[in-house]
Amino acid sequence: MNLADSELVSSILIEAGHKLVSNIDEADLIIFNTCSVREHAENRVLGRIATEKFRKSINPELKIAVIGCMAQRMGKRLIDNYGVDYVVGVDQYLDFPKLIYENKGAITDPDFTQTYSGIRPYHQSKTCAYITIMRGCNNFCSYCIVPYVRGRERSLPAKLIIEEVKKCGQIGLKDITLLGQNVNSYSYQDINFPKLLRQLNGIDSIYRIRFITSHPKDLSDELIEVMAESSNICEHIHLPLQSGDNDILAAMNRNYTIEHYINIINKLRNAIPDIAITTDIMTGFPGESETAFNHTLQAMQEIQFDYAFCFKYSPRENTKAATLPDQIPEEIRLERLKRMVNLQREISRKKYEAKIGSEVEVYVESMSKKSARQVSGKTRDFKIAVLDGTEQDLGTIKKARVIASTGNTLLCYDRS
Ligand code: SF4
Repeated sequence: MNLADSELVSSILIEAGHKLVSNIDEADLIIFNTCSVREHAENRVLGRIATEKFRKSINPELKIAVIGCMAQRMGKRLIDNYGVDYVVGVDQYLDFPKLIYENKGAITDPDFTQTYSGIRPYHQSKTCAYITIMRGCNNFCSYCIVPYVRGRERSLPAKLIIEEVKKCGQIGLKDITLLGQNVNSYSYQDINFPKLLRQLNGIDSIYRIRFITSHPKDLSDELIEVMAESSNICEHIHLPLQSGDNDILAAMNRNYTIEHYINIINKLRNAIPDIAITTDIMTGFPGESETAFNHTLQAMQEIQFDYAFCFKYSPRENTKAATLPDQIPEEIRLERLKRMVNLQREISRKKYEAKIGSEVEVYVESMSKKSARQVSGKTRDFKIAVLDGTEQDLGTIKKARVIASTGNTLLCYDRS
């Protein structure tokens, strides 16, 4: 979401006459687009601001701006306490150029109707596009700050999304990822998310469609049906589990049980046998006993995710979970996180190794970072793949055979 918002803000500023530079030494405005989901992310931003401030002594005209959720949450405190020049909240990006022009400080008034519809993002990639289809969230998971800083759900008009996807395909961005805090709740007039996907699947100029993030309580049979039927929708879903323990899921206000979650996974795997499933899992939520934590490890063993983003719980100001008793000490959170990461690493390693010898379809996204004679891309099931190639291969589909795995990357042989 932040990458898409950075592209949105770039577009607004370019339209106002500013230009992007590729070297930070040439910048006279440095913008930090921030995330508030975890305290760690915020601390890193504050550290980076402190590091970059030395540039002001070399270039007194240099300005530093903070945008995104942290700007929304902290507002003017970032100017008063951290020496930032501009603070722009998540609903105020259209006024960012005016703020720069007038050299004023902070604008963070929430506008929970703002969708930025009609603004074409400045897509940075030459091969892939992120397209926001909705903003905000209505779910109020008890640990999460997003509904407080991003407001309630609102969906962008389907017609504009379809037009943007078509335009992306025409300029070579043929791998599309649709974005929303909960894409399953997309609703614009009589178009729900599966209907939107059906329409997007019919666009000739693109090769692939993905979407993040889905909520297990809202993932419908209709969506599974559309995924199974649509050749451009990739065999991959990101479905946050968060915990494998029903009491913890209830305290998180997630509104599903582990049985419901496993039932969805079974339906997905029955309908789309090769589907890859990735997830977010948290440990150390208040009240999580060793037994509850083991339920999460058991769920991971049973489900066998292709990949899991594992986190330790991070208390966030003004959320319900931050006020709950039985906060788990940091050393226990860390120790459980380590066990969780080790388990997932082993599961992912086996998943990747199981691909050796199989035929995969790779969409080539970039040159490999390690070799000038190799290119890198993704398989349909969201695994990074590397194969021999040149710049001419960027944006093309390759049929390849997997010859080895590093545990998180597939090494492939081009058979196109
Ligand atoms: S679904 Fe829950 S975790 Fe996701 S953004 Fe909404 S409140 Fe946060």
